[in-house]
Amino acid sequence: MKKKNNYKVTLIILIIITIILFSFIIYLLFFKKPSNNKVLDNKKDEETINIDNNIEDYEDIGEDDNISLFESQDYYIENNLDRYIAYQTLNPSKNIDEVITDVNCNIDRSFYTDPVASNLDDGTLLIVNKYHSLSSDYVPSLVTMEDGYTNVKGAKMQPEAYEHYKQMVDDAKLEGITLYNVSAYRSYSLQNTLYTNYVKRDGVDAADRYSARPGYSEHQTGLASDINTASSKAHFENSLEYSWLNSNAYKYGFILRYPENKEYLTGYKFEPWHYRYVGVDVATYIYEHNITFDEYYAYFIENN
Ligand SMILES: [Zn+2]
Repeated sequence: MKKKNNYKVTLIILIIITIILFSFIIYLLFFKKPSNNKVLDNKKDEETINIDNNIEDYEDIGEDDNISLFESQDYYIENNLDRYIAYQTLNPSKNIDEVITDVNCNIDRSFYTDPVASNLDDGTLLIVNKYHSLSSDYVPSLVTMEDGYTNVKGAKMQPEAYEHYKQMVDDAKLEGITLYNVSAYRSYSLQNTLYTNYVKRDGVDAADRYSARPGYSEHQTGLASDINTASSKAHFENSLEYSWLNSNAYKYGFILRYPENKEYLTGYKFEPWHYRYVGVDVATYIYEHNITFDEYYAYFIENN
């Protein structure tokens, strides 16, 4: 009887030990390990959050720096800030000065994209380019140019521009330089005929580099004149007349409207013969700062 009891007690102890061991194994397998992983995962999450915060901090600082860099530049226009940032992202090789110039001149948009009507209240600072156009019925007030100033009979210009033009031609003559107009005011319909013919001859892409579409020609303003020639083949840029104009035109309120190496801004190839009246003060500023009228207009006229 005693032996049987001993056996029973041993069996119970063995069962209890087995249960304890089994429980321990279960605990190790299903509870301990996962809970360790959870701690690790939490740690990882914290680190990730910290890194994210750091990146955010960095981006915040980077963007603020970028904005103040833009703000400190000449010709910065607050309304264009989003476009500066977008354009800079797309063109990382451009420096900040180029980004501002390009966006101010709308180069972040293709030529003829969403053009607006030229502001007729701008007077002699009226802009006409590949983003600003005149209506087909726009005709400025005009006077007919006299012989001696034009080799095209009946050529017309706006009165103020013409007065300055005459003075320029007269003063040039005193220095042995002969200047004369070969194309001044052109109506919408004349421009339409010219452009259509150029497109037929050379195709749209080529024609767009040297001829304006109707409504987009500065000649429709009556403020522009092609002097002595209107042909690249003539190489007017090598002449004494060009050299004189280059040094003196601004004194009479005229600017070289489509300078060399600025085609990406103006949309036109170098036209050493095309002069535009903007008044003496503005012409002097543009001449001294070596900028295009498009840049001047964006910052000083449209921005105000
Ligand atoms: Zn011209």
